[in-house]
Amino acid sequence: MVSSRKIINSLQPYVPGKPIEDVQREYGLTEVIKIASNENPYGCSELAKKAMMEAMSTPALYPDGNATLLKEALSTYLKVNKDQLLFGAGSDEILTMIATVFVNPGDEVISCTPSFPRYKSAVQLMDGKFVEVPTMDYTFDLEGILKAITDKTKIIFIANPNNPTGTMITKQQQLEFIKKVPSDVLIVLDEAYYEFAKDGDYPESIPLLKEYDNIIILRTFSKAYGLASLRVGYAISHPTIIDLINRVRGPFNVTTMAQKAAIAALKDQEFVNSTVKANKKVREYTYKKCEELGISYADSHTNFVMMDVGKPGAEIFVELQKKGIIIRPIGPTNLIRVTLGTMEQMEKFFAEIEKLV
Ligand SMILES: *Cc1c(COP(=O)(O)O)cnc(C)c1O
Repeated sequence: MVSSRKIINSLQPYVPGKPIEDVQREYGLTEVIKIASNENPYGCSELAKKAMMEAMSTPALYPDGNATLLKEALSTYLKVNKDQLLFGAGSDEILTMIATVFVNPGDEVISCTPSFPRYKSAVQLMDGKFVEVPTMDYTFDLEGILKAITDKTKIIFIANPNNPTGTMITKQQQLEFIKKVPSDVLIVLDEAYYEFAKDGDYPESIPLLKEYDNIIILRTFSKAYGLASLRVGYAISHPTIIDLINRVRGPFNVTTMAQKAAIAALKDQEFVNSTVKANKKVREYTYKKCEELGISYADSHTNFVMMDVGKPGAEIFVELQKKGIIIRPIGPTNLIRVTLGTMEQMEKFFAEIEKLV
């Protein structure tokens, strides 16, 4: 048998949220709701759907590897230069590209735990050392991260808001932190839930790029835009950083359908606004129900809420699944992550969780 690189043996495949069809089959259920993967329960923009239909006429042709039109549209929308943008098959693909470009064997990369598990796998893949600082009150511990910086530190990954906790760091906290990070350490600000979090104390990170050349902002069309299945996310950074990442990017990594849908989705901010508004209402309802049931939760700035259900999340996960509700347990803890579905889906969820806690 051919042997792999050593590190591959210690990697675990990503365990995604269970697909609806699996649960239907396993438990013989017809009605199953999935509130496990932070998908948009309201679907996506009708304009995006129309654009997808149009893209169906050219499946034989390779996509535009430069994503020219999408880049133009996004650069206008974000008011950044085109050479500051790079697209990936989801922001997830960009995480891997970042590690590929910057992590030498033995380099240290810092993030918090619990956070998005893909940071760790991207770093391990490059034989880097992943340094995990525990979150404090379920929030990114920026002081702890600063203390963990050594002369081997290469990257710091910050999910803001954080997944799976939903908490955020404020504009002021982020700025103080960035000022203290050495300029040869890359700071990745993963803003997958930007659209849900913006306003209030949430940072506007793009203006920082004028002053700092060691920041990468990651955003995605998967969450608020509701295009998760198409796989399209993007990085905003200094042109030199973008140029480096572009060297490892696959030539046709974002499909034509994804590019066209993303352009259309960008034009339909009304859809995003209505999603954010509905999400807020459901989040308030969710908090209220949690308080009634004595379930504690972390303050969320996203489309999901992390709850402490007082017994192993893995058990609650199985019990809910039997009732046709898919949520996500968080490791070997009493915590679960529940995506904010429609009001109707949440009513169903609470009707069942009520019997379990
Ligand atoms: C969902 C998510 C992503 C990845 O989304 P893509 O679908 O790959 O664009 C990245 N970071 C965090 C924190 C997420 O929750």
